[in-house]
Amino acid sequence: SKEPLLTVNNIEVIYDHVILVLKGVSLEVQEGAIVSVLGANGAGKTTTLKAISNLLRSERGEVTKGNIEYNGTDITEKSPSELVTEGVIQVMEGRHCFEHLTVEENLLTGAYTRKGGRAAINKELEKVYHYFPRLKERRTSLAGYISGGEQQMVAVGRALMAEPNLILLDEPSMGLAPQLVEEIFEIVKRLNEETGVSFLVAEQNATIALKYAHYGYILENGRVVMDGNASDLASNEDVKEFYLGLG
Ligand code: ATP
Repeated sequence: SKEPLLTVNNIEVIYDHVILVLKGVSLEVQEGAIVSVLGANGAGKTTTLKAISNLLRSERGEVTKGNIEYNGTDITEKSPSELVTEGVIQVMEGRHCFEHLTVEENLLTGAYTRKGGRAAINKELEKVYHYFPRLKERRTSLAGYISGGEQQMVAVGRALMAEPNLILLDEPSMGLAPQLVEEIFEIVKRLNEETGVSFLVAEQNATIALKYAHYGYILENGRVVMDGNASDLASNEDVKEFYLGLG
């Protein structure tokens, strides 16, 4: 069988030298897949994504065991900017738009690592507007004055500007009305199908995540307690009882 695009091998993460948060997490993302990491608040979803994109250091966290491979090479020690250049792009929880910049300026900040001049960037911008027509309408609005759903679109759009191969999407449903959540996931699905970009999506809302993912992992207290095809997980009695309806 084919080698996975991303392999997380039994990683342990410790914050502040003593707080053990991930207790041996393993997962895989196949090329072209949408994979979901599910679990309650505090289970370790964000920590898992930040371990992959090497964003733990600023929170005084570190991977103390295990390793992470991307495209067959060990990326555990690669800097966040190297990872961006290699197409691993994280969309942080809470959107993090620059509120005093316009929608378009926010999108352009995603292109800072790109080579190829303005023409290449404009082409990418048109692609973002193709998938998010709403952002085109709002291109001159300040990001601080658009809705939460539109800000989430900006956050994903900015990731697209960096020519991603794997997008790590943290809790896209957070704080959004159900219809908007559905809209965001529909776009994720289209992007996946039409551009081939892979997704690792952390979600508390298992119902929506399993509807759109191909495969899922359930985290509990820093460990993977179950994994499987999304449709199998969605019909599993334990998953139904403990996770569906959360979020
Ligand atoms: P959420 O839905 O809240 O993002 P999560 O599943 O993503 O939850 P994490 O944010 O990864 O969970 O947190 C997992 C555990 O690690 C929690 O107990 C949390 O309190 C702890 N934790 C997170 N960040 C830090 C930090 N910087 N220092 C110490 N402990 C932390």
